Amino acid sequence: MQTLKFADCNREFQDAKIVILGVPFDATSSFRAGSRHAPNAVREASWNFESYIQELDVDLAALPVCDLGNLEEFGKAESMLKALEFEVCKIIEKNKFPILLGGEHTLTIGVVKALKKQYKEFSVMILDAHLDFRNEYLGVKNSHACVTRRISEEIGCENVYSFGVRSLSKEEKVSSEKLKLKYFTVSELREKKISNIIKNLNLKEKIYLSLDFDVIDPSFAPGVSNPEPLGLNLNEILNCIKLLSSKLVGFDIVEVCPSYDNSGITSILAAKTIQYLVASVWRVSKIE
Ligand code: MN
Ligand code: MN
Repeated sequence: MQTLKFADCNREFQDAKIVILGVPFDATSSFRAGSRHAPNAVREASWNFESYIQELDVDLAALPVCDLGNLEEFGKAESMLKALEFEVCKIIEKNKFPILLGGEHTLTIGVVKALKKQYKEFSVMILDAHLDFRNEYLGVKNSHACVTRRISEEIGCENVYSFGVRSLSKEEKVSSEKLKLKYFTVSELREKKISNIIKNLNLKEKIYLSLDFDVIDPSFAPGVSNPEPLGLNLNEILNCIKLLSSKLVGFDIVEVCPSYDNSGITSILAAKTIQYLVASVWRVSKIE
């Protein structure tokens, strides 16, 4: 039975406005498996911090946040996705803000399916070193390497944006051009500034944010399943969160891999990111 909770999550589900759910699933991981241990490792790391977020003047201990523990569905991706979609529907139909703690990136497909049932239109913003745009990977369609492709099929390429991309196959380059997927490399984000880029996107009023933690440079966040050099830093990630916060309707953080996180720093950065996300979203609160 799950007892460890994310720090300062003091409410029960019915009283909460923000709900954390762990998804310890890593069955399609191709390089370093082990992200199934991340939900609890990140929870443990969260107890390192003060509940007061100085920059945003928010005390997390006072906020209505609930940690539901982990999804208890293992096995194939398809059954995990079904179970997750069901759980996320229960959260969003009560107008609560879901935070999914992966696990591998595959889980985002289930969340987007749930959002689609609730909202007529929304955009999905993905922060990821990888384009994840393969049609299938190692014979599997619901794979972490195909997430952006599956999501684009659900809501249309024009509603999906990827930031921080620096790794894709030739096949992904060709198909993303053909299907007109918009993505930005790390150098583009830095040259044109993230705030200018976001301003010029055709974003819907509701945005779901998916953070594949490998978008961060592995010298900061080494404990991920597929480390890819030349990434963003945590300040840039938090800036993105702040810029989007007034429109966010949900968030996931995926691909943290504690078995390769020797100093535990990656889980610490992930826990800080969640704290910051909760405080930012609450401050501009659209959560009603
Ligand atoms: Mn990914
Ligand atoms: Mn990735």
